[in-house]
Amino acid sequence: MQTGGVPELPEVHALAADLDGRLRGHVVDRLDITAFAALKTFDPPVTAVHGMTVARVGRHGKFLDLTLAPAASADDAETALHVIIHLARAGWIRWRDAAPIPTARPRGRSTGPLAARLVLDDGSGLDITEAGTKKSLAIWVAHDPIDVPGIARLGPDPLAPEFTEEVLAGILAAAGRSQLKGVLRSQSRIAGIGNAYSDEILWAAKMSPFKPADMPPDDVHLLYEAMQRTLREALARADGLKASELKAEKKSNLAVHGRFGEACPRCDDTIRQVIYADSTFQYCPTCQTGGKPLADRVLSRLLK
Ligand SMILES: [Zn+2]
Repeated sequence: MQTGGVPELPEVHALAADLDGRLRGHVVDRLDITAFAALKTFDPPVTAVHGMTVARVGRHGKFLDLTLAPAASADDAETALHVIIHLARAGWIRWRDAAPIPTARPRGRSTGPLAARLVLDDGSGLDITEAGTKKSLAIWVAHDPIDVPGIARLGPDPLAPEFTEEVLAGILAAAGRSQLKGVLRSQSRIAGIGNAYSDEILWAAKMSPFKPADMPPDDVHLLYEAMQRTLREALARADGLKASELKAEKKSNLAVHGRFGEACPRCDDTIRQVIYADSTFQYCPTCQTGGKPLADRVLSRLLK
């Protein structure tokens, strides 16, 4: 069974909005890191955020950013600290209304083990969890989000007003003969699109995952429209949902991603998939590849 996968731009955006409404203005009592490997920084120490006030919650690509300010002062970039969280495939954040009761946590639930816990002054807060054995959830405490290498490398955000069709054309031209699927999910080229939404965008644009990125202006236009529509519709659906509802929402609205063997919602052909590395992607042959199934081994080599 496919999971919702790594939370991508629409989910992280909605999650940030939900958490902003809950956390903003609250004082952090403490931040406890349970999975020590998840913490990628040691200076400033985690304890530096204790007693600080949450100024806002936002995102950079798929990274969540909790901006914290010293309790007494205004939101000031000089004194602010950032808790940056990158949710991996099996990572998630849950809002907790009341103070945690350590002994009451049932074992063996699919919610996964605790990686970190943020406790606010009133006892409410966040449980940051990661299920499974492959641990890749990551947390940074930084003076500036740009100190996080993955954020420093991010390409432009596709939902930013300055992300025009011309910007996309430039990105695609620079990528040359690289395959579109890999270009769309490359965070250094475009921020926030991962395996799921690259499948959805390619399906919406009726383009092969292997199509060379450098394409004529008419195709750039189709791809730009498909990208904007796909991401904005997902965002509109996710907007206002609680963190706990976002993964199910994403999964239930994908047209092709994670839908191997099902019927294409547009043409009724059977959705196929390609398996590569530790991942799979899905597409519709009739809509995207002239009816021809794609070969697995070609992809495993070319999608690196
Ligand atoms: Zn189709």
